[in-house]
Amino acid sequence: MPVRQNLAFVNCNVIDGDIDSEVIQDAVILVRNRVEDEGKAGRIEAVAGKEDVEIPPGYRVIDLEGKYVMPGLINAHAHLIGSGKPRNTRTPAARRRLAEFLGTRVGRAIALKWIRQNARNALHAGVTTVRTVGDPHAYSIPIRREVEDGRMIGPRILAAGKIIASSGGHGADFLAYVADSPWEARKAVRKAIQDGADFIKIASTGGVSDSERIGEAGRPEMTLEEISAACDEAHRAGLKVASHVHSTFGVREALLGGVDTVEHGADLNDDLIRLFKNNPRSLMGYSALVPTLSVIINVTDHDTRYTRFTPVQYENGTIIRDRMINAFRKGLEGGVKIGVGNDAGVVLTPHYDVWKELLHFVEYGNMTPRQAIFHATKCNAEILGIDNVTGTIKAGKSADFVVLEEDPTENLALLSKPSMVVVFGHVIENPTVRRVREVDAASHGESKSMGCVNRSPSGVTHPPRMKNPVL
Ligand SMILES: [Zn+2]
Repeated sequence: MPVRQNLAFVNCNVIDGDIDSEVIQDAVILVRNRVEDEGKAGRIEAVAGKEDVEIPPGYRVIDLEGKYVMPGLINAHAHLIGSGKPRNTRTPAARRRLAEFLGTRVGRAIALKWIRQNARNALHAGVTTVRTVGDPHAYSIPIRREVEDGRMIGPRILAAGKIIASSGGHGADFLAYVADSPWEARKAVRKAIQDGADFIKIASTGGVSDSERIGEAGRPEMTLEEISAACDEAHRAGLKVASHVHSTFGVREALLGGVDTVEHGADLNDDLIRLFKNNPRSLMGYSALVPTLSVIINVTDHDTRYTRFTPVQYENGTIIRDRMINAFRKGLEGGVKIGVGNDAGVVLTPHYDVWKELLHFVEYGNMTPRQAIFHATKCNAEILGIDNVTGTIKAGKSADFVVLEEDPTENLALLSKPSMVVVFGHVIENPTVRRVREVDAASHGESKSMGCVNRSPSGVTHPPRMKNPVL
């Protein structure tokens, strides 16, 4: 670990992250890295136009040559265990085998290495905070500790550890505590807290990636009583609850149960929008939506030979895609607080592609790049309850920011190649990501077909259907 020096970033234009503040031109950012109390190291000491800041002696001056600085991105929905590379985990048995292997000594070492690499990839792409919403054996927690203790320079990690699912439910084979009653749900929450979770993740409805029948994604899997018990138990410890939800019915139960964030989402009506905005059972009095458009677009825009999905999983993906986009649009129109998360780690969705979620926000939400940046920074920090430490470039906040060649509010694609990343006051001079070959191959496959995306999976003949799918 290099010796920490106080820093003065000069000659830059600062987008501080507030939705209505002007760009601070020719600004200076002072970062205090040498303080007696290590806990306070890595904070922004001052940020203002150069005429209003005096650089104290002994500060290392970093000339940013007129570049733009904005707060580091926050990914509110990721899985650090995955890189985005498709895996052969289509069957419950295959997922159980992988989880079992990762539970061995060798498997643990491999999993921790993956998590470090994925966290590094996120950071080098300008993601200074990652909320990891479920990893087998809660392995994201030891890596979070490595970052906290300074053993590794990484993004701030908020970890759920293991998720909570019902028997046979979404994630149950791979990364969950299984709970089948309100008391089991409470016990699972207690175990996750004991593991060191920062928040609780539940799968209250079925998902796409492990579905076996059409209609399973969105099927209510946890009962309202179980959801309520999990939320109550988590809230008693001051922890928020995020729930995986893919149907309107599921959104309703999750909100009534008191979840703080609805992950993915489904078509919303006025009643649900009201409940999001005023949810007395949530920790903050409101619940937020984290739509994860990237992952659903990635898995439905690519042939199953790239995603390794079964035809049923692909078909469920296409059903969910429209619901998720509708949830995002209606939520936005209705004033629901909306966070940015791309579900990085899942098939074809790498940790370095969070900026693409911002493009989707602009495209599907008809918003400006500046608004999309706000959602991925300050707004995300508020949703996750960390706005007192990060999400804006202000005195007293953690020095978490990205340096870009030009103005990102003119061109969001600049976010794909930051020229410098700063996290907790650590400077990463030439950030480079390790690209995932399979993800590149999939997008290459697309361009070979002249941009014409093959959305028809081979072999959908008579897939088994749910008897009473809740659609
Ligand atoms: Zn996810």
